[in-house]
This record gives sequence, C-alpha cells and structure tokens, in this order.
Amino acid sequence: MECKLCDEPITNPLCQDCLKDAVAQWLQEHDPQRISDLAHETNCLRSDEGIMCVVCKHDFSICTYCYAKHVFNWLKDGRLQVEFLHTFNFLTFS
Ligand SMILES: [Zn+2]
Ligand SMILES: [Zn+2]
Repeated sequence: MECKLCDEPITNPLCQDCLKDAVAQWLQEHDPQRISDLAHETNCLRSDEGIMCVVCKHDFSICTYCYAKHVFNWLKDGRLQVEFLHTFNFLTFS
C-alpha cells in the first residue's frame, strides 16, 4: 500500500487520527486554541480505504511522514515548528 500523497510504501501503520491525538496533546501545552483547527486539518486527509491502523483499526492512506509535513506547514510559527520537530522526531523527515 502506497501513501496517497507521496507514493512511498506506508511502513508505519499509524493513521492520521491517532497521530492527531498525540499532536493535540502536545498543542495543549503550546497553543491550545489551535486544537480544533488541527482536527479540521486532519479530517481533510481522512480516507475510507488503505491499510488498517494498528491502534484504532480504521483504514487510512497517508503516511506518517506526509501527515507530519502537513502539520509542520500548518503550524507556520517557527518556534512551534522547532518544538514540533523536537517532540515528533520519530516521524523522520527525509
Ligand atoms: Zn506520504
Ligand atoms: Zn488510528
């Protein structure tokens, strides 16, 4: 199964919704008023087909890398972006 955005195989079977929960927790400490906007941004990437998330068992088709990149761009704020990369460095950018 390839990611719908970058065409690379999805190697980390975690969906955008489960990642969103982790990012929302992080935002709670940094910029809580943006959490609802994050939910909206995440919904835009939702899909009914793809591979099954190991955590919530829903199908998804966006890799963790593309989701992290999407959130990173959405954050805009340079200070938050640095914090984001520091906290979510397991979602390696390449
Ligand atoms: Zn991707
Ligand atoms: Zn999930």
